[in-house]
Amino acid sequence: MVYFIDVILPIPLQKAFTYHITEAEAQFLKPGMRVAVPFGKSKIYTALVYKTHNNPPTVYEAKTIHQILDEKPIITEMQLKHWEWIASYYMCSIGEVMRAAMPNAFLLESETIISKNEKAEVNDSELKDDEFLIYEALQHQTSLKIQDVVSILDRKRVLPVINGLVEKGVLNLQEELYEKYQPKLVRYIKLHQNHKSQEKLQELLELLSRAPKQREVILALFTMEASSKAPIKVSELIERSGASSSIVKTLIDKAILEEYHIRTDRIQFEGDGDADIKTLNNPQQQAFEAIETAFENKSVVLLHGVTSSGKTEIYVQRIQKELERGKQVLYLLPEIALTTQLVQRLQDYFGDKVAVFHSRYSGNERVEVWNNLLNNSEKAQVVIGARSSLLLPFNNLGLIIVDEEHEQSYKQFDPAPRYHARDAAIVLANLHKAKILLGSATPSLESYFNAIQGKYGLVELNTRYNNVLMPDIELVDLADKYKRKRMKGHFSDRLIEEMTETLEQGFQIILFQNRRGFSPIVECTTCGTSPQCPNCDVSLTYHQYRDQLRCHYCGYNSVMLKNCQACGNATLDTKGFGTEQIEEEVKVLFPEKKVARMDLDTTRGKYGFEKIITSFEQREIDILVGTQMLTKGLDFRYVKLVGIMNADNLLNFPDFRAHERSYQLMAQVSGRAGRTDLRGKVLIQTYNPHHNILQQVSTNAYKEMYAEQMNDRYNYKYPPIYRLIKITLKHKDYNRVNLAADWYAKSLRQVFKANVLGPEFPPVSRIRNLFIKNILVKIPQNQSLTKTKDAILKVDNSFNAVKDFRSVRVVLNVDNY
Ligand code: ADP
Ligand code: ZN
Repeated sequence: MVYFIDVILPIPLQKAFTYHITEAEAQFLKPGMRVAVPFGKSKIYTALVYKTHNNPPTVYEAKTIHQILDEKPIITEMQLKHWEWIASYYMCSIGEVMRAAMPNAFLLESETIISKNEKAEVNDSELKDDEFLIYEALQHQTSLKIQDVVSILDRKRVLPVINGLVEKGVLNLQEELYEKYQPKLVRYIKLHQNHKSQEKLQELLELLSRAPKQREVILALFTMEASSKAPIKVSELIERSGASSSIVKTLIDKAILEEYHIRTDRIQFEGDGDADIKTLNNPQQQAFEAIETAFENKSVVLLHGVTSSGKTEIYVQRIQKELERGKQVLYLLPEIALTTQLVQRLQDYFGDKVAVFHSRYSGNERVEVWNNLLNNSEKAQVVIGARSSLLLPFNNLGLIIVDEEHEQSYKQFDPAPRYHARDAAIVLANLHKAKILLGSATPSLESYFNAIQGKYGLVELNTRYNNVLMPDIELVDLADKYKRKRMKGHFSDRLIEEMTETLEQGFQIILFQNRRGFSPIVECTTCGTSPQCPNCDVSLTYHQYRDQLRCHYCGYNSVMLKNCQACGNATLDTKGFGTEQIEEEVKVLFPEKKVARMDLDTTRGKYGFEKIITSFEQREIDILVGTQMLTKGLDFRYVKLVGIMNADNLLNFPDFRAHERSYQLMAQVSGRAGRTDLRGKVLIQTYNPHHNILQQVSTNAYKEMYAEQMNDRYNYKYPPIYRLIKITLKHKDYNRVNLAADWYAKSLRQVFKANVLGPEFPPVSRIRNLFIKNILVKIPQNQSLTKTKDAILKVDNSFNAVKDFRSVRVVLNVDNY
């Protein structure tokens, strides 16, 4: 008998790849274990076993695997099934899903670059020979590729050695060069072996009678040991005994005390886990019970509760219930900005059962959560995370919560898999026979539609916690204010009045402007030219803080110009405004108040959000200016006023969802005002005070908005009535992309007739030197999605067979958002 395995490689291959294995290997290997395999001429990849069988591949000779990397599967069968669904639904390869799911530390490959971890304290003698050779090589060069290690060790099978060194914290992988990962070691202390017995102890205390400070330390250690069996940290001992660290060191040097290290999880929890879960008020309790009833015959329930109605506390109760049943819970958030507050809140209740998983965590932190979940460890019973956490190895999932389910950031845009986390979560819940609770104050039309159709349960919560009134929303007519000269910069007299009053009362203010930077356009007042990005078809945004012009699409930047590049005159002026400019103006209007800004430019780094959010919570900031980042689910107690600087650029955005989104964004940011006892105030500045959406926002008329938008969606055949697949073609040559897109659209039209739109250039038609053209396929409800995709793939295959088009990049985006 000959044995083969199909493996998943972390690259976009249409099919699984087959390798030759021995009988013993065939008996050992199970789906979900990792193997190191050769691929192409000289590459090595970490691959996942998919299945073992006896059929040789027909079109190539199967190579043998390099070696087996795991003793048991590190991904679950359920995960594999879910990944398969994602690959097939979102039209990508399962390898791409694997790449998105697995921490890089799991996926060593020949291109991986390793380097020495400068912070690690390495004891040469603890390294095995192989390990030492690598370690030594890294004393002479800063980094090595896996291939270099192959030649150093003179053998093919090197990944386990490297894995071992990574686990010991001796090596860094490429991505962690910036993170400077270090296994976190905590210093503990105990009495040295020699003094353990009663008599010895007595002797010791006598000996120390002339060193009272040292004696104090020993006595403190006794009391601590007597009161708890837990290991004692050096830092605790120092604090307790009031001694200095040098006294402790003396005791260690004298071999009276002994120091030891325990490696702790980097994912430290801070909450005590002993805070009492809040008792729900009546409306919350009713909602909670309604959810339970709905779950009896629906697996998905939508909780539509106005901002600050106390949805989070309802989730908490529901989580508690799952934990009592010994089930895992996944709590999805659209944006890591939100995790700060939530993690704190949940850890107060559930302690270190709460784990966090998101992209700003280092590879090793992610590995920890992964392993904890796989082992169904206590430490990861509740996982809070962004999108990609739904690809983790849950094995006992009872409940998924999708908070702020309407958020568009749930949809992955680039690279593949271009999945929607809410929808993929529903599938995941079904695989696990788990329940899934979607929550929002402004549900997506999709989810509300599904709820009304009876596909999901629907529970509504219309009062704010504590019966705080919904904020009072006032529309300010900018055209009128400008005409009557009632504007200071971008602030109307009404906004300034309200701000002054709020600040006098000691409350805080949020100002929302959906653009970062100082000004999105710089224009010469003499000749009208404005500086453009050399790589993209957009004007450059002026960032005053760095005195730079920047492209928000490709990151290009240059210093701000002094003169117009076209006519040479020093008559450059700015048009439009972003958060930086608002911040500037606020500082002039309220010079004695503290202003901060929260946008992409101020929140980089792992703890970027945390700093701003915490100091706003601590009231170190009076006025917070920000982009949509601060609209989402944040809970601040002292915000009384929210100002929306300009509603019009939201409303006029060229997208069929623009109105729905504008409603959601404005309702959400308004919801930050008046969350505890005082009624909040919201001012929306606009040139269009009679716009339906603004009227609906100001009267909190979600259902009216829903009905009106759905009407448009019916009429114009858009989701949720029709489904959409967007096909994007990109190429550096303008003519080529035009020809290719025409060809593609024409072929699609032969199948889908009038349900093909385009090709069309998007508003920004060139990014990073690639011209972009979009084609939209609309899919009626009664048309099979599978057949539709098959037909598209067929067109795609023929397209790729055309020589001229081979270099054109095609991106398929299912359920485009
Ligand atoms: P939502 O998620 O609906 O916007 P939250 O759950 O954040 O609302 O609740 C808003 C505020 O009210 C929070 O500060 C929360 O702590 C408080 N709150 C909600 N429910 C309760 C309750 N049952 N008991 C005490 N405080 C509550
Ligand atoms: Zn650019």
